Amino acid sequence: MASSLKGKTAIVTGSTSGIGMEIAKTLAGEGCNIVLNGFGDAKQIEQERSNMEKQYKVKVTYSAADVTNNDEVKKMIDDAGQVDILVNNAGIQFVAPVEEFPVDKWAAILATNLSSAFYAVREVLPQMKKRKSGRIINIASAHGLVASPGKVAYVAAKHGIVGLTKVVAVETGTFGITCNSICPGYVKTPLVDKQIKDNAAKNGDSEQDEKNKLLDKHPNKEFVKTEEIASLVVYLCSDAAQSITGAHISIDGGWTAE
Ligand code: NAD
Repeated sequence: MASSLKGKTAIVTGSTSGIGMEIAKTLAGEGCNIVLNGFGDAKQIEQERSNMEKQYKVKVTYSAADVTNNDEVKKMIDDAGQVDILVNNAGIQFVAPVEEFPVDKWAAILATNLSSAFYAVREVLPQMKKRKSGRIINIASAHGLVASPGKVAYVAAKHGIVGLTKVVAVETGTFGITCNSICPGYVKTPLVDKQIKDNAAKNGDSEQDEKNKLLDKHPNKEFVKTEEIASLVVYLCSDAAQSITGAHISIDGGWTAE
């Protein structure tokens, strides 16, 4: 599989942390040139970027684009030149009951977790269609398929991204492009660590109790590993996955089978 991705260029949004960083490194390991994106400490990001270049011997650039801003997304894609693989991964979370959910948090989650993918997809499609080739992978969530209390904006955005994926797939079917969403269960990243901490403070119990509450959703009682998601991305980018499009693929320890 390695050689088929060699020399391709992949943009991974939200790749300064967690799942996105793992996907970026794994694609770099397969020989892809990478555009990193996301927030964080400039020095640390530069260190990560140059380490990746040295380790994987590929070109790694960084775009500071805020993916909620269409102009910044457009510039990131213009600067990248040819984009063979787009991974829409940037995301945020906030938890509160519907009637207490702050309106600004709703708007921020919809913008970061859903509109961002629309902006990026509409920008890369013309060049992918012209070349009759491309791979678009949207990191959705188990929450793209089922609900949990307190997550009205996140669940709405993730269901939205599963829908967006299907439309893109049916519009690009004859263009050698595939578009799929991956629906992970809980993955131990800064996004989930924050949720565990916040919930422990709110509910007055321990972080271990809150961790167990999340893992109760997983019949296998394990967090999903970032490496498992990155491997699935590599597979979806390979020629072997040419006929997989419009799919939402669960990687959730059995959560959504229940
Ligand atoms: P994370 O907090 O570790 O990383 C999020 C990344 O998104 C960071 O790089 C951050 O800088 C970036 N980001 C946030 N807002 C941005 C913006 N406006 N513009 C550009 N970049 C921005 O989170 P993670 O757990 O790695 O989550 C990555 C994706 O996976 C998200 O879409 C999340 O919803 C999804 N997901 C996570 C889990 C989980 O359990 N961690 C489960 C299912 C799906």
